Amino acid sequence: MSTIDLVSNKLFEEIKQEYDKYGELSDSHISALNCMFGQPLLAALDLVDNSAVTHIVSPSEKEVYQVCSNSGRKYTCPASLQFCPCMSFAFGVIKRGELITCKHVLAILLSKAMGLCTVVEKSDEEISIILFQQEY
Ligand SMILES: [Zn+2]
Repeated sequence: MSTIDLVSNKLFEEIKQEYDKYGELSDSHISALNCMFGQPLLAALDLVDNSAVTHIVSPSEKEVYQVCSNSGRKYTCPASLQFCPCMSFAFGVIKRGELITCKHVLAILLSKAMGLCTVVEKSDEEISIILFQQEY
């Protein structure tokens, strides 16, 4: 696990505790998120406000996350959160290495910490169809 993963895991754990207790994020956590993730943060918070994150699970514990963007396009990310099929991930994260992650993955991390993912159960076959239908 990288140092960034360790630091962000700690940060999201703190955010979870704080959100469970107070129902909001503190300014200091928003500053820490901004320092760590930068530009995608505001858009990610907007996605969280719009309840854009769905956690899809199957009875055999296959799982993916789906983020519905403001344009209505859906981005499907593996549960490892190591990939998003958006342009920002392809160029900002993978190609240029300028971003830690994209707004979609950050929205998933925040929604998980804040308990705001909509959980939907689907069969393995339905999950495979969702992955197959992902637009790139
Ligand atoms: Zn993305």
